[in-house]
Amino acid sequence: MSGNEFQYIKEAFDSNWIAPLGPNVDEFEKEIAHYMGVNGAVALSSGTAAIHLALSLLNIGKGDKVFCSSLTFVASANPILYQGAEPVFIDSEPETWNMSPRALERAFLDASSEGVMPKAVVVVNLYGQSAKMDEIMALCQAYGVPIIEDAAESLGAFYKGRASGTFGQFGIYSFNGNKIITTSGGGMLVSDQNHFIQKARFLAAQARDKAIFYQHSELGYNYRLSNILAGIGRAQLPFLKDRVAARRKVFSRYYEQLSHLPGLEFMPEPDYMQSTRWLTAFTIDESQLGISSEILLQALNSENIEARPVWKPLHLQPLFIKNQYYAHSDRENVCEQLFMTGICLPSGSNLSEEEQERVIHCIHNAIEIKGLTLYG
Ligand SMILES: *Cc1c(COP(=O)(O)O)cnc(C)c1O
Repeated sequence: MSGNEFQYIKEAFDSNWIAPLGPNVDEFEKEIAHYMGVNGAVALSSGTAAIHLALSLLNIGKGDKVFCSSLTFVASANPILYQGAEPVFIDSEPETWNMSPRALERAFLDASSEGVMPKAVVVVNLYGQSAKMDEIMALCQAYGVPIIEDAAESLGAFYKGRASGTFGQFGIYSFNGNKIITTSGGGMLVSDQNHFIQKARFLAAQARDKAIFYQHSELGYNYRLSNILAGIGRAQLPFLKDRVAARRKVFSRYYEQLSHLPGLEFMPEPDYMQSTRWLTAFTIDESQLGISSEILLQALNSENIEARPVWKPLHLQPLFIKNQYYAHSDRENVCEQLFMTGICLPSGSNLSEEEQERVIHCIHNAIEIKGLTLYG
């Protein structure tokens, strides 16, 4: 928390706006839209709800195909199933770990020769970093398919000077407890198209028709953000820049002290992007480092340090086992490789230097011990 949250919460209590609407909701939406440079924003109960509404606004339904990044959290794809649609998973490329334009192009070529085009592409920006949006947007424009940009993990990141989450027809953010700013739970749908914004607000509040009685012509949802939680978001937003700086500093300390190790490679950042480094992640080449990512994770966890593997690709999940998948190339399956060798380190904006030293020490130790047993 930033410290100013109580003031906004108190205002909500004092004015008795304890509802999924009210002045904090309105202002939070305006502030996000202004900050990101988009026409409109709708505050919602979660990032997942935002993805669901975007799919619903694009009239995606039973049997429709939706392309989606494979290397991501399950929430990127679950709403595709809510709509009865069928996800087709797309591999990553090595320079950003995000959606491979090459794999996407092959998926489009197949879809067009089969005559069944996808109704949308869900592009995920992993661990604070944008995907290769120019290449992805060019393909989607050529095939006339809208983009939903899942920027849940990349709030505060930039791609060629433009805010992450503002590239697609829709962008979505999350304010879940683990994200860079949080309302404990919450999300935002952004778009430049005002008719979508208005329709999203309508659908998120049970799709109530303009009538004096309760009348409903369309299927709606209860997806609005509470006025209390929106107050927490308003207090956090001014600190987003500081948190990005803090996370990037955490990354650079890890980088300084670990990047010399053979076979240890940090998630790259192309020079025309600015990642938030929401999580510091790296891969391990066991043949060079002498220790696998699995053993290193065990060593960290046994010291009560919460390190985690990289997301398990969705096309490998039992839930999606029947769904199609396009790899980066015939020989390169990038996201499976990242899953098998990748680790995310503790990266919180408030991680102290002492705490970080402990993590780094534990990594050095684990590698040394392994080296001793191997060569000593
Ligand atoms: C957190 C997250 C979401 C979902 O956001 P919620 O607010 O938790 O529903 C979606 N996509 C990605 C990539 C995420 O990390």
